[in-house]
Amino acid sequence: MRLSRAFLPTLKEIPAEAAIASHKLMLRAGMIRQTSAGIYAWLPLGLRALKKVEQIVREEQDAAGAQEILMPTIQSADLWKQSGRYDDYGKEMLRIRDRHEREMLFGPTNEEMVTDIFKGYAKSYRDLPRNLYHIQWKFRDEVRPRFGVMRGREFLMKDAYSFDLDAEAARISYKKMFVAYLRTFARMGLKAIPMRADTGPIGGDLSHEFIILAETGESQVYLHKDLLDFDVLAQKPDYEGSLDPTVDFWTSRYAATDEMHDEAAWNAIPAAEQVSARGIEVGHIFFFGTKYSAAMGLSVTGADGQPVTPQMGSYGIGVSRLLGAIIEANHDEAGIKWPDAVAPFRTAILNLKPGDLSTDALSEKLYAALAGDAVYDDRPDRAGVKFNDADLAGYPWQAIIGPRGAANGIIELKRRATGERVEVALEEALHRIMAP
Ligand code: ATP
Ligand code: MG
Repeated sequence: MRLSRAFLPTLKEIPAEAAIASHKLMLRAGMIRQTSAGIYAWLPLGLRALKKVEQIVREEQDAAGAQEILMPTIQSADLWKQSGRYDDYGKEMLRIRDRHEREMLFGPTNEEMVTDIFKGYAKSYRDLPRNLYHIQWKFRDEVRPRFGVMRGREFLMKDAYSFDLDAEAARISYKKMFVAYLRTFARMGLKAIPMRADTGPIGGDLSHEFIILAETGESQVYLHKDLLDFDVLAQKPDYEGSLDPTVDFWTSRYAATDEMHDEAAWNAIPAAEQVSARGIEVGHIFFFGTKYSAAMGLSVTGADGQPVTPQMGSYGIGVSRLLGAIIEANHDEAGIKWPDAVAPFRTAILNLKPGDLSTDALSEKLYAALAGDAVYDDRPDRAGVKFNDADLAGYPWQAIIGPRGAANGIIELKRRATGERVEVALEEALHRIMAP
C-alpha cells in the first residue's frame, strides 16, 4: 500500500469519549470509525489486522477438528421461543419485525440456530462427534458500550458448538477447544489465562473464561505465577490423543476472576507466587450438556438403537475485541507495537526524500520484494511526520531510506517493539524482516 494513495485517515485530535489506550490508538491510527454508539466501520488498516486475527482463530479451530460454516446474522424469534430464551434474553437482544410482521432478531449468539441446523441432518451415533463454528457479526444492545471495539454493540465473534454422544466424549471436545484457545492467543503474542467461570445464562456445569492481563481490563483476576511462564507453542497438540497433561497443568494452578475468587485457596499460595492483576476476557467456553439439544428436540439413534440426546458445548472468542486487547497489551506513548503475527503490515518503508533517484530506487526495490506485506510511505512529507505515523500505526519493522544511505545501498532498519536500529544492505534487510 502506497501511503500517497492510501485511505488512512489518522486523527490529530483524540475524541473525548475514548478513555483507554487501545480505543484512542485505533482512532488515531485510522483503523476504525464509529458510525453509531458501539458500532464501528473498519477502515483499511483496521480491517487488515482484524483479518489476521480472524485467520489465526480459523487455523486453530480447523486444527482442532472444528468445521467452519456461516450462519446468518438475522434469526427467527421462533427458534428462541423454543429454547425459552426469547423472553429471558431481555433488552440486550435487538428485536426486529419484517414486512409480514414476523418476529425476527439480530443474533447475539447461535446455540438455538446451530442445534436446529444440526438436527436437520444428524440421525445416528455415527453423525457424532461434530464441532461446527462460524465467525460472524453479533449484535448485543449493551447498556454501556465503551472502550471502542472492546465492548461494542455490533462485534465479530467466533462461536463453535460441539455435539457428542455422552458427557465423557463432550469433555474431550471441551479439552480440544481449551487447548486450541491457548494456542490461538499465544500465536497472537498474548498471555491468555483460562479461569474457571460462572456459567451464567447459558447454563451448564463447566466453563472457563480466557483472560489476558492488561491494566485497563474490566475484571480483577488472581493467578499463580507459573501460568505466566508456560510456553504452549513449544508443544504440538495431539488432538487425536490425550490432551490431559496440558489441561491438567492449566487447571492445577490457581486462577480466578473476582466472581469466582476463593480467599482461602488464595491465601494458601506463597505471596511470592501470587499475581493479582486486571484482565480482559477474550474467550469463553462452556459445557452445558443437553440444555439446548433437549429444548430443540435434537435426538439421534445410539449404537444400541435407543434414542440419545446429544451433549453440547459452546465456545466463543471475541475476534474484534481481541484487536483492542492486543493493543492494550502492546503499546507505548508513541503508538501501537503490533506483534508480528497480527500486524496489518509487517513493514513500513519510509522514503525520506521522494523524488531522489537513489531513495526512490531502493524503496521501490524493497517494496516489490516485500510483495504486498508493506506500506510504502512515498508521501512528500517531512521525515518527522513519517516517523510519527509509522510509530503510531505500529508496524513491527521500519525500513528507513534516506539519501545518504541509499547512495550506498544502505537501509536503516528499526524494530518497533524494542527501538533497536541497524544499518544493513537490502538482502540483509529482507532476511531480517522475513525471519520467522
Ligand atoms: P462479557 O462478560 O464481556 O459481556 P459475555 O460473557 O457476554 O462477555 P460471551 O457470550 O461468552 O461473552 O461471548 C464470547 C466472547 O465474545 C467474549 O469472551 C468476548 O470476548 C466477546 N464479547 C462479548 N460481548 C462483547 C461485546 N459487547 N463487544 C465485543 N466483544 C464481546
Ligand atoms: Mg456480555
